Amino acid sequence: MTTVGILGGGQLARMLALAGAPLGLRFLVMDTQPDACAGQFAPLLVGDYRDEDALAEFASKVDVATFDFENVPAESAQWLSERVPVFPNPRALGLIQDRLAEKTLFRDAGVPVPEFADVTSREGLDAAIAAIGTPCILKTRRLGYDGKGQFRIRPDKAGATADDAWDALGAQAQTVGLILEAFVPFERELSVVAVRGRDGEFRTWPLTENWHVDGVLSASLAPARVDDALSTIAFDHARRLAERLDYVGVFALELFCHGGELLANELAPRVHNSGHWSIEGAETSQFENHMRAVLGRPLGATTMRGHACMLNWIGELPDADAVLQVAGGHWHDYGKLPRPGRKVGHATVRRDSAMELAQVLQRVGESLGRQDQVAPVVDALERS
Ligand code: ATP
Ligand code: MG
Ligand code: MG
Repeated sequence: MTTVGILGGGQLARMLALAGAPLGLRFLVMDTQPDACAGQFAPLLVGDYRDEDALAEFASKVDVATFDFENVPAESAQWLSERVPVFPNPRALGLIQDRLAEKTLFRDAGVPVPEFADVTSREGLDAAIAAIGTPCILKTRRLGYDGKGQFRIRPDKAGATADDAWDALGAQAQTVGLILEAFVPFERELSVVAVRGRDGEFRTWPLTENWHVDGVLSASLAPARVDDALSTIAFDHARRLAERLDYVGVFALELFCHGGELLANELAPRVHNSGHWSIEGAETSQFENHMRAVLGRPLGATTMRGHACMLNWIGELPDADAVLQVAGGHWHDYGKLPRPGRKVGHATVRRDSAMELAQVLQRVGESLGRQDQVAPVVDALERS
């Protein structure tokens, strides 16, 4: 009996445990919170990731360890990796935790990125703005997620000047660090969800198109409406990065598509929200393949079954039956208490054709009063 340890007990750990059950796997989840939602399906060890005693207990009970979020302290991941196999490796995790190191890696690997500059002081911010131009985005180098720790600078707009950005984030220049990035007026956001096995085998799911609202993922559509040439470039970028990092497991590479070119935004070193559609929409889900990869087992086919759209539920869950009653509708309730801004669940609608998917989504949007959320996806499907 193999026990997989997961650091972090949110919905990703929960879906990993659900996918691992048919493979005969047991799980141990470690989280700082006693009500972590993965604890509803797997034994939960409550502890701080920096607490050596808690980590030692975790290590003694698992055969292999992985992550459900990227901000586990890199030293803790390293300490753990000296006791049990840890995938992805702590060096990759540590590098990706820092947006500056991450973007530098992308550039060195030949993966195009928006212009960026390290910012360590107020004067440094002015110099970076002069070099990069406006509009631009000031971001914390570490610990940001769901668009938190970001400030958009548009000197023509009240409340969006360099002074305002410094008021909002300047205090963090000496703690988590800051990076300034050019704002990309992208036509579309895409992601490559990919998996690399312990033996180096590499597979990708079809490219996914994503829509964000206030920096948080709102909807994903797979396959994205892109030609094969662009997909091939995106997959090559993902493969190159995975090889450089000696990455094992599932990851997502977020891309901006601008003027027909791809620019990399960030890499998420874990299963990713933009790959949730793969549970019902692909031959093998991202969760199952992550398990297969970290265990060194054969990877499953990543081929799609038709067309799939995932809708994120943020803050509170809408009426499940509006989704369950449509053909190809699937519901995921993460078992979390409602809270503004919190990801509490998602739905996936899968149909054989793009037209059918557009029709079903339109109906779901109307019955939930969420026409705004489905509109860009329906529009994309109708134009494909
Ligand atoms: P998560 O890890 O949850 O995806 P995050 O906090 O790491 O989010 P980013 O992915 O960097 O943040 O940004 C969130 C969203 O903000 C992006 O998906 C994109 O919509 C927008 N955004 C971020 N950086 C840029 C940029 N340089 N140009 C244009 N839009 C951007
Ligand atoms: Mg991120
Ligand atoms: Mg992101």
